[in-house]
Amino acid sequence: MTGPIYLDYQATTPLAPQVFDVMTPWLRDKFGNPHSAHRLGREAAAAIAVARDQVSTLLPSGGQFVFTGSATEAINQAFGAAKLVKGLRLLVAQTEHAAILDTAAAYAAEGYKYFDLPVDAEGLLDLDILAEELGRGDIALVAVMLVNNEIGTIQRIDEIADMVHAAGGLLLCDCVQGYGRVPLPEKADLIAISAHKFHGPKGIGGLWIRDGVDVPEFIHGGGQEGGMRSGTLSPALCVGMGEAARLMAERFEEDRAHVEALANFARFEFGQWTINGSATHRYPGNLNIRRDGVDVGRLMSEVRDVAFSAGSACASGSGRTSHVLKAVSLNSAQAKSSIRLGFGRYTSEDDIIRAATMINEAAERQI
Ligand code: PLP
Repeated sequence: MTGPIYLDYQATTPLAPQVFDVMTPWLRDKFGNPHSAHRLGREAAAAIAVARDQVSTLLPSGGQFVFTGSATEAINQAFGAAKLVKGLRLLVAQTEHAAILDTAAAYAAEGYKYFDLPVDAEGLLDLDILAEELGRGDIALVAVMLVNNEIGTIQRIDEIADMVHAAGGLLLCDCVQGYGRVPLPEKADLIAISAHKFHGPKGIGGLWIRDGVDVPEFIHGGGQEGGMRSGTLSPALCVGMGEAARLMAERFEEDRAHVEALANFARFEFGQWTINGSATHRYPGNLNIRRDGVDVGRLMSEVRDVAFSAGSACASGSGRTSHVLKAVSLNSAQAKSSIRLGFGRYTSEDDIIRAATMINEAAERQI
């Protein structure tokens, strides 16, 4: 790959070459509308059916998968399920992505009651407070993500799902950072994923809905996706997402071993930095670290040959302290001296060594 060393895998991942190859014919030659009844249309519909099966392989059984334009859209759609159950309370982990937090806030403006669930210093949900909040009743929906996009903490989703179900609520799990990398929970009711986070194309994601859970029609129109999300599907994007999912399943062990080896290596290279969040309950391809006395804004402007992030890519540039680093009790100076390095399938040990040399040298100049 030309350009800077890419260490921002939580923001997005490089497109797998195999994904590019399977998408090309659908962009160039096979232009049929998958909802048309003639041969060109049926061919596109068949390719989409294969893609849906490929994506579903890594999802729990006993549900249906709806393609969406992004995980953000899937999350917005999933919240609709709250409207079809009795309760009016929404519980949301403090460390969720803006897609969840802002959707919950929008529902609060419509009369739902919304409570932030705190996490401990490792980023793990405080289950005592969850139990207390569930005990107050009137629960509609609880949202807790599987792998945190900023600090990589992996939550105990199935245990949380049991608690939520006992209280009569639904559990929405944002699995954007976990899909294909760690086993997905079996007991969530709604799961959102995004293709560009696992070497697929941008502009496509999806929502998995457990059988028996009702989600209202989200986009009105031609009735595609079982009437839940109208609009002509893009065969190229669906096929690309399917191939990306197939590769995640096929390479699960190989990718996992590679990422673990890189993580051990990176922890050694960045030995003078402190890990933010959990050292153990963590997806190893995420290294969020801090070094006292470092100003990350200056660091990033000096180390232009490495693509990495200060806090969440979605929040960076906003000037606000990361809500996730705050939730795990970092003060604003510590948060401002924190960087997030994300690596994966296409990262080499040499990339880590060269990036560490550049970042460490620039940090030393500041201290
Ligand atoms: N949830 C998490 C944890 C994410 O990291 C992201 C992307 O940054 C999203 C949701 C939104 O995904 P998309 O880009 O598909 O809207």
